[in-house]
Amino acid sequence: MVHHEQCPLCSSGMIADQIICIDHYISGETFPIARCSSCGFLFTQDYPEVTEIERYYESSDYISHSDTSEGLINKAYHIIRQVMLRRKRKIIIKLTNLRKGILLDVGCGTGHFASLMKESGWSVKGIEINDKARNFASETFGLDIISPEGITSLQPGSFDCVTMWHVLEHFHDPDKYITDVLTLMKPGGICLVALPNSNSFDAVHYGKFWAAFDVPRHLWHFDPYSFSRFSIKNGLSIERLFTLPFDVFYISSLSEKYKGSRWPFFRGLARGTLYAFLTLFNRKRSSSVIYILRKPSDQ
Ligand SMILES: [Zn+2]
Repeated sequence: MVHHEQCPLCSSGMIADQIICIDHYISGETFPIARCSSCGFLFTQDYPEVTEIERYYESSDYISHSDTSEGLINKAYHIIRQVMLRRKRKIIIKLTNLRKGILLDVGCGTGHFASLMKESGWSVKGIEINDKARNFASETFGLDIISPEGITSLQPGSFDCVTMWHVLEHFHDPDKYITDVLTLMKPGGICLVALPNSNSFDAVHYGKFWAAFDVPRHLWHFDPYSFSRFSIKNGLSIERLFTLPFDVFYISSLSEKYKGSRWPFFRGLARGTLYAFLTLFNRKRSSSVIYILRKPSDQ
């Protein structure tokens, strides 16, 4: 078990448990979320060590579920996923100014995003910890996917773009990972980091039921302020920020379910609609955020 005596972000000793969350997805166990009163950072406390965490990810149906197109919800999910994949591609092409470049997708899962970029002419590599997902991505899309230990074999300064879609919050050592990624980027290259936002409208409303706390898989609960601090600490700065507008519907519905509401899907849809609207005027309160980090050209 990992217990922090100090804030992992600013090293202040002024930390205290703020809420207790349940692992609704796998174990039913509870984990506290602590808050640093010096910098405001939220993080999971007393979580399993790297060697113990695997059983909290055990879900043998993961691939078959995410890739079936049967049923209305799955159909909607697939359509939304396509829209979001294209949005991500558009952001990358716009920000790198490249129609074709070299991309590393960290935590590529079953490889749908990496595959879209490959089809668009990009040279793509993926990193994925889950054997089944890695094999699926290689066999289905012919992608070049390595396990996380393989990151040391990659050529420093060789990537125009590194993407981390909802993965950094899972890493036991996010500082080391972001430093490794920075080394792999070309000078002037960009890194896109998507994260749930613990200061979003939905997070504040649902509190301990907020589905994106997702303990103990999510260890760090960033918001735009704490992620900016984290980036600066690691030699990067946030160039700009985008929203992932559909995440709020999924997260709100799941949060309603965790809360035990009747009709969680429809309640979540209603709340999601309200928050999606409010986010139009305040993107820093979006349920999920894509942060754009750029490596300085002189590094
Ligand atoms: Zn702190």
